[in-house]
Amino acid sequence: MMSAILEPCPHCGNLTDTGVGQYLRADGVLVWSLSIHCASCGLVQESDDLGFPPKRYREYIIRQEGLWMLVVVPTEKSGRARAGLIMKQMLSLDTRDVARLLKAMPGVIWQGTKSEVDWLCRRVSQAGVDCESRLWNLTEGGPPEIGLGTSRFGE
Ligand SMILES: [Zn+2]
Repeated sequence: MMSAILEPCPHCGNLTDTGVGQYLRADGVLVWSLSIHCASCGLVQESDDLGFPPKRYREYIIRQEGLWMLVVVPTEKSGRARAGLIMKQMLSLDTRDVARLLKAMPGVIWQGTKSEVDWLCRRVSQAGVDCESRLWNLTEGGPPEIGLGTSRFGE
């Protein structure tokens, strides 16, 4: 998805609508993109990059499309271990983080943007562990219990 945030133009410095997008590519790679069309100086710039976007863009995307959760549904111990290993590899987690994730299963083990959660969920599913990507609904009450938060990811 793509929506716009007001940011200074990298060329003239005037505030301009900057499109921020993030998506999961068909080959399973997480991509984020910026799109600038400056009304003041005419700069047109499109760029994209792999991995997590800078923190302010992630926070913006989450405000736009909500906070998503990766939920690992009840599974046997070996499945939980496989899910933990995949999360470790994908997010470069240390042993303590992985222990927290294992303890949180079954349940919500991660939260972030929809594309990020889909990205993780796809890989965890491919390892034969049932999981789902779910929008956190405020009416469910309050902040979800999670294995890992979003704040450390993105610069
Ligand atoms: Zn400009």
